[in-house]
Amino acid sequence: MLQNVVFDAETIARRVRELGKEITDAYPEGELLVLGLLKGSFIFLGDLVRQIERPLQIDFLVASSYGTEKISSGNVRLLYDPVTRLEGKHILIVEDIIDTGKTLRVLLDLLSERAPSSIAVCALLDKELMADPPTEIRFVGFKAPKAFLVGYGLDHSEEYRHLPYIVDLD
Ligand code: 5GP
Ligand code: MG
Repeated sequence: MLQNVVFDAETIARRVRELGKEITDAYPEGELLVLGLLKGSFIFLGDLVRQIERPLQIDFLVASSYGTEKISSGNVRLLYDPVTRLEGKHILIVEDIIDTGKTLRVLLDLLSERAPSSIAVCALLDKELMADPPTEIRFVGFKAPKAFLVGYGLDHSEEYRHLPYIVDLD
C-alpha cells in the first residue's frame, strides 16, 4: 500500500533549513506571525520555525472546506480563528501542500481584511496545478508529483502523519 519514498527525512531537513534562511532574510524588520494551517502543517511548522533566526509569534488556523467530499468547493470556513491580532504584522501562512489552491485563496481573502502589513505563504509542497497562482506564494519546499502523498504531517484518513518522510500512497 505504501509505495516509494518521494522525499526522505534528510532531503526534507536540508530544504527546511534553506527555507528558514530564506524566510529570515526576507523579513529584516517588523513583527512576524507564523500561522500554521492545521493539521497538515504541524510537523513542517515545528521544524521550520526552529530554522528562522529572528523573533516571531506562532498561531494556528483550522479551515474546513465543505461541499462534496472529493471536489474542493471553495466554500471555506474558519473552525479555529487565530486569537493573535494580525493588524500591522507580517503574516506567514504555513501550508503542507497546495493542490487546487482553493483553500488558500479564500484564506488569503479572509486574512487580508484584517489589515496585516503583509501576507505570504510558505508551502512545503506545491503540485503546481494552479493556472494563476497567487503572488503571496513566496516560499515553496518542493514541487510535488501529481500523486497522493502522506507522511511528515500529511494524512490519509488521519493515518501516516507521523512518518518522518513523505511517501506516495497511489
Ligand atoms: P486545495 O484547496 O489546495 O485543493 O487543498 C489543499 C489541501 O488538500 C491540503 O492542505 C491537504 O490537506 C489536501 N491535499 C491535497 N493534496 C494532497 C496530497 O497529495 N496528500 C494529502 N495527504 N493531502 C492532500
Ligand atoms: Mg488532509
